[in-house]
Order: sequence, then structure tokens, then C-alpha cells
Amino acid sequence: AKKLGKNNYQFYDEKLSLDVHAQLKIEQSLKSAILDNEFYLNYQPQYNIKTKEVTSFEALVRWQSKELGYVRPDKFIPIAEDNGMIYEIGKFVFEQACEAFVEFKKINKNLKYIAINISSVQFKDKNFVNDIFYIVCKYNLKPSEIELEVTERYVMEYSQSNLNTMDELRDLGFRFSIDDFGTGYSSMGYLTKFPIDIIKVDKSFIDGTPNDNNNVQIVKAIVVLSKSLGFSVVAEGIEYKEQEEFLQSLNCDFGQGYLFSKPLSFDDTLTILEKKN
Ligand code: C2E
Ligand code: CA
Ligand code: CA
Ligand code: CA
Repeated sequence: AKKLGKNNYQFYDEKLSLDVHAQLKIEQSLKSAILDNEFYLNYQPQYNIKTKEVTSFEALVRWQSKELGYVRPDKFIPIAEDNGMIYEIGKFVFEQACEAFVEFKKINKNLKYIAINISSVQFKDKNFVNDIFYIVCKYNLKPSEIELEVTERYVMEYSQSNLNTMDELRDLGFRFSIDDFGTGYSSMGYLTKFPIDIIKVDKSFIDGTPNDNNNVQIVKAIVVLSKSLGFSVVAEGIEYKEQEEFLQSLNCDFGQGYLFSKPLSFDDTLTILEKKN
């Protein structure tokens, strides 16, 4: 770093303060975002890789800010996690997703569940279990129709209280999937301690298939081991036919990605459900 001249340092400092400034603006705008109705959800289908039937949807939050325009979730979610706002945002997402799922099921009775991303910050709140169970009951859904997506990192931060919360939710009937699997360096054996149903293989591994031999071997190993331990497998970020064919050849269960469908608005989701029904 010392070799960079004075100008480079200045450039770096400027960029840094810009980032801090941008972050503060996001934080400020987030405060009124729920009340101003700036959040909404998109839904991305998950499908059976063999039959191409839609089995479920993943709910993904979107933020159209009046001050900042569209802000991507990977930009604002870490900020909302840091300042605790993710709890309220997460509750809003959970309720919207349940409400939408009721409508989706009216069109396609074979839909098994709706997948909802849960931040580790939400899990740590003592009201979390009660809050989501209340919402599920309010919409006459069964907890088994809700799949909670938690990241591998959360599960790795092993603590008795993480496990207790997961067990409590499992006893109520909720399902769990491990998101971004392969990025957190946990072992499969370790995962069997947790009440997990599904492993979602991270897009970064799917990206290189079927040409990059390292990724091919990693995905193969994850799929084979997951299945032998009784987990279902979802491959995320499938963009090319060749990737889908490769995953079919491994007997991977489910897929998700732009090849099949991008995340859709509520209305577009109803439309594709009507078409594919
Ligand atoms: P994720 O949970 O791994 O979600 C998958 C992301 O990959 C989504 O990005 C989705 O739009 C994108 N994706 C799906 N298929 C493809 C594909 O074929 N190609 C490419 N290039 N991308 C694909 P998105 O919606 O921008 O979300 C980014 C991340 O933000 C999510 O990653 C998740 O970690 C977080 N997130 C989104 N919604 C929520 C939410 O409601 N709550 C929480 N806690 N986190 C959320
Ligand atoms: Ca996810
Ligand atoms: Ca993921
Ligand atoms: Ca991801």
C-alpha cells in the first residue's frame, strides 16, 4: 500500500467518506420506509429439476426509496441488521409473504411452501417465535408451509440458544433450509445437529458448472452427501441449460435461477401460476 502515491491515498479517503455518507443516507431513509410503504416483495419460483413443475417460491424484499430510488437488498440489509431495523422489516416481509402465498395456493394447490429469508438478528430477538407463529395462524397457514432460509454462517455461529430457537420452531412445524451453502466452511456432519430439511447450494459453485472441474466436483460432493444425509437440495442461480442438465444428471432435486425465471412481482407470479396450471 505504501507504493501508492499521495494521490491514491486521497482517492481512497474520498471513496471511504463517500461510502460512509451513502450509508448514513440509507440509514436515514430506512427509518420511514415501512410507514411510507416503500417495501414490496418479489417471488422467484423454485422448481423440480426433473419435471419442471413449480414447487415453491422464495420471497425477496425490494425497496423503492423516495429519496434514493431503488436500493438493492444486499446494500440495505446489512445496514438494517446493524441498527436493528431488520426486525421490523423482516416482520413486514414475513406477513406479506404469507398473505401472497394464500393467493398463490388458490391457483396452484400443489405449491408446497413459501421460502422466507431470515436474518440472524431476527432469530436472536426473544419475540421472534411468537411473532411469526402469530402471523402464520392469522393467515390460516400451517408452519410446515413456511420454509425459513437461514445462512450457513448463522448455523455455524453455533450456540445453544441458536439450536434451542431452531428446535422450538421445528416443534411448531416450520421447515429450515441452509442458504448459500458451501461458502461458510461448515461440515455436513455438523449440520446434522440442526433440524434442517434443505441445503441450497450457493450460486458461486453453480456458476462454474459444467466446465470448471473444481466446481463440478464440489457440487457433486455436496449433492451426494446432502442426499445421503436426508436433506433435499436446491441449486440456486441456474442461468444456462448446460448447468440444468448437469444438475439433472446428479439427481439434484430442485432448481432456482434466471434460466427458469427471474424474481417476479406479485401480479406476474399469479400470471405464471395460471399459465403453468
Ligand atoms: P439470496 O438469499 O442468496 O437470494 C438469491 C439472490 O440471487 C437474489 O438476489 C436473486 O434475485 C438472485 N438470483 C436468483 N437467480 C439468479 C440467477 O440465475 N442469476 C443471478 N445473477 N442472480 C440470481 P436479491 O433479490 O438481490 O437478494 C440478494 C440477497 O439479499 C439475498 O440473497 C438475501 O441474502 C438478501 N435478501 C433478499 N430479501 C431478503 C429478505 O426479505 N430478508 C433478508 N434477511 N434478506 C434478504
Ligand atoms: Ca435466500
Ligand atoms: Ca442463496
Ligand atoms: Ca446468496
